[in-house]
Amino acid sequence: MATVINTFDHLFLHEGISGRQAYIQTVDAAKKMIADTMREMKEPYCGESPASIEAMIRGMKLASLEGEDLQYVLKDVEKLLLHSIHVNHKTCIAHLHCPPLLPALAAEMVISASNQSMDSWDQSSAATYLEEEMIQWLCRRLGLENRSDGTFTSGGTQSNYMGLLLARDEFCDKQWNWNVQKKGLPPDASRLRILCSKAAHFTVKKSASQLGLGEDAVIQVETDSFHRLSLPDFRKKLRTLKSENLLPFALVGTCGTTDFGSIDPLGKMAESAQENGLWFHVDAAYGGALILSRNEFHKLQGIEKADSITVDFHKLFYQPISCGAFFLKEKRNFKYLNYHADYLNPEEDEQEGLLHLVNKSVQTTRRFDALKLFMSLRSVGLEPFGRMIDHTIELAAQTSKQMQQLGGFNVINPNPEMNAIVFRYEPPEAMDHCKLNREIHRAMLYSGQAVLAKTNHRGHTYLKFTLLNPRTTIADINAMLLKISELGNWILRNGGQLNEQQDTSRASYY
Ligand SMILES: *Cc1c(COP(=O)(O)O)cnc(C)c1O
Repeated sequence: MATVINTFDHLFLHEGISGRQAYIQTVDAAKKMIADTMREMKEPYCGESPASIEAMIRGMKLASLEGEDLQYVLKDVEKLLLHSIHVNHKTCIAHLHCPPLLPALAAEMVISASNQSMDSWDQSSAATYLEEEMIQWLCRRLGLENRSDGTFTSGGTQSNYMGLLLARDEFCDKQWNWNVQKKGLPPDASRLRILCSKAAHFTVKKSASQLGLGEDAVIQVETDSFHRLSLPDFRKKLRTLKSENLLPFALVGTCGTTDFGSIDPLGKMAESAQENGLWFHVDAAYGGALILSRNEFHKLQGIEKADSITVDFHKLFYQPISCGAFFLKEKRNFKYLNYHADYLNPEEDEQEGLLHLVNKSVQTTRRFDALKLFMSLRSVGLEPFGRMIDHTIELAAQTSKQMQQLGGFNVINPNPEMNAIVFRYEPPEAMDHCKLNREIHRAMLYSGQAVLAKTNHRGHTYLKFTLLNPRTTIADINAMLLKISELGNWILRNGGQLNEQQDTSRASYY
């Protein structure tokens, strides 16, 4: 009798010796390729032009008819990696985009291999409780009380959206006994307003638009000289809104603005929000990591009074993308997200005490991202974790001092609250500082020296260092500053620009 051989076994993680072998063989090949490219990596970017990378990738075979050995596929992936931004590099300091911790990379292997889905208990039995424990641990660290709760999210965008969604629904419920979940927006929805500072993240507006309130429902408050929300202007705007018969219902405080890392006066804002019946949401996507720092923890004062909080772990917690969380002071407010699906989270299960985390999320199928934070906190340790963050904040302060000593640099936030510095090179002989700094930005990238950010402050182009990497040292910074001034001066001598061609490659600069 002929036996039918199941030819799919080698493609899946499975029980027994053959499953072990298949898994190890496959994963080892990928691990080796990654480790080999890292060993060869010298610069944060290969320096090739967008056009040449595009041509290379667009020419890649996307699928094969009968399958090919993974080794061949990995050859192409290696090319892709060699042309990627090397976020692990010490001079890759553009965005809030972190080098991921090694224990978290190991966690990603466990997350993908076990492939738990956090929506219902029967898809994530043990993981459900670990996520719940991590959330409660984080609530305590944030200073939230027993009635608090939270959920892991895909990041700050989703967390901010959830905060404003619950704020809207709670307000409509209280004000008009109106159930938005069932009936949609109430007749007076066009009077609803959200307040935040001018420096708040763009996802506040984006959320307002997605929540049917429109971007114009977001009223932007002026910032003070430290780029924090101005309390006098906030009070003035609030009075005006009330006198116009509008309905301010939410106030968003930012703890770590994206450009300057500035922290709004959270304590005062919380008080004011309470007095005026506003939901207080704190966007601590960036600054939330200060809960781990002994030196900087005090800057979070007031966050514990928030109705809801956004924290990202794929920024200053050094987790691979994606990993974030959303917290609520009063867990009962999750009721505005509640849906019961017969196949997933029937009410009878709840009566039996089965936890279905879908009740707390706008997502359904959801990754077990709590595991990577768990493995990181355990493996790194809270004290070293705090010291890593402190190092980056001290480095930013040193960098600012260094720029001022060197001269020629104009620093917009000379006393950085966190680890971001906005500045530009302004030699006296330069005519157009915006253009010069745009060219410097390009030259640093295409020479492979450093990946810096470019931002706009009051209509002008500036450069930005976001110093998340705890491996970056003041020596690395000094070398970059030297390079920036050399390149700047070279550009000036050569008529204000390096090369007009779009296809700028490393060769054009030297
Ligand atoms: C990064 C960031 C966000 C957006 O978070 P994502 O994780 O990118 O979705 C929101 N607010 C602030 C202050 C941020 O820095």
